Amino acid sequence: IRILLLGSGGREHALLWKLAQSDLVDHIYVCPGNGGTSGEPKASNLDLPASDFPKLVQWAVANEITLVVPGPEQPLVDGVEFYFRKVGIPVFGPSALAARMEGSKAFSKAFMARHSIPTAKFRVFSSSEVDQAVQYVQTCGYKVVLKASGLAAGKGVLIPETIEEAVAGLREIMIANVFGAAGSEVVVEELLIGPEVSVLAFSDGYTIVPLPAAQDHKRIGEGDVGLNTGGMGAYAPAPVATSAILSKIMTESLRPTIDGMRKEGFPFVGLLFTGFMLTESGPKVLEYNVRFGDPETEALMLLLREDVDLAAVLLMYQACAEHRLDSVQVATRPGYAVSVVLASQGYPGSYAKGEKIHVGELPSGVVVFHAGTSKSGEDIVSSGGRVLAVTAHAPTLQQALDTVYAGVDKVTFDGKTYRRDIAHRALTAAAQ
Ligand code: ATP
Repeated sequence: IRILLLGSGGREHALLWKLAQSDLVDHIYVCPGNGGTSGEPKASNLDLPASDFPKLVQWAVANEITLVVPGPEQPLVDGVEFYFRKVGIPVFGPSALAARMEGSKAFSKAFMARHSIPTAKFRVFSSSEVDQAVQYVQTCGYKVVLKASGLAAGKGVLIPETIEEAVAGLREIMIANVFGAAGSEVVVEELLIGPEVSVLAFSDGYTIVPLPAAQDHKRIGEGDVGLNTGGMGAYAPAPVATSAILSKIMTESLRPTIDGMRKEGFPFVGLLFTGFMLTESGPKVLEYNVRFGDPETEALMLLLREDVDLAAVLLMYQACAEHRLDSVQVATRPGYAVSVVLASQGYPGSYAKGEKIHVGELPSGVVVFHAGTSKSGEDIVSSGGRVLAVTAHAPTLQQALDTVYAGVDKVTFDGKTYRRDIAHRALTAAAQ
């Protein structure tokens, strides 16, 4: 098969790495890709505008593409699935209708309410309802989180400390439009307390095949301080998600989500990423993403067993009408996988680009996935905030961490910054 993979991050490099191991795969084109994806066996980068769907379709037909795999959310929310379906090329990912679960938080919260899926209490306000929203945060009786409803590249959430800050935040979103059109509706919800986990699950619209729970590290600073980022590292399985918690997550959240979507006429086919807060009163859904997460995917790809054929798994979704997912193997290896993001100095603020990257001899078990990199002549140079995701698998979490950080030491570029405390919560819990 010939795959068109859309995106340019570490997530896409990790998917490519696993897909390329499949005997089914002849070639993978990554659009636009990065400095690492172009060097992989059976792969090349494709220089076409990734948002110009008619052009991509035309190219895909001419080049006999047999499967399209969108990495990020934007193409899915913009309906890329329909463009390719019209010409008979299957897409591993949901329709635009199903992608509303990520594209509109107002939509997904209303869906959760309709299906009694545990989530934070909430109200939705349109931009003409500033006074009502202000009155609500002043009288609702709980600490609130403010969310722009639309896509805001993971930056559309404010967590105010006081009611005054909450009112100021509402004005910023609803009047000053700091999140642009994404803030034309605002979700005001109850602040939840607890550890967070992400559960990524394959679904054909009926069957649910979850991967081990992962934990991301959103903040730039060690000890989870400082600004939010796209993610500074991840590990899986996260021991905080015990089997009792996972089974609750399955019966109270994932099962009603997949069944509810199908029954409402927009079945979910693809990879559903559900973010949970493990509160004292049980796991509650924070958000849905309708695609693989980054950097969770980097760790999870290493956790999949060597004999798992990812191409076969993704292709199975074109047979979703036959509900054959349960016949597909998505087994994981024992042990732990950890991914540490190497960022440019200054990220998530401004940072230098064009720094030359050198990767020395890596310890066995380490794979370096590229994110913000590009080729410059013979060199690979930095071209983004999150530059590389160094990833390792080992039998214990401590061994995986020792290996991954030994790998981190082998990678050099000016301004290299990273968190040394990935998986600190699991280590602290294990020590207690
Ligand atoms: P991303 O897709 O990058 O994870 P997003 O913009 O879609 O982010 P959410 O995932 O809904 O937004 O929220 C981002 C983060 O804000 C969460 O990972 C969580 O840490 C925090 N958060 C969101 N909702 C709540 C809540 N109700 N209580 C406490 N923290 C919350």
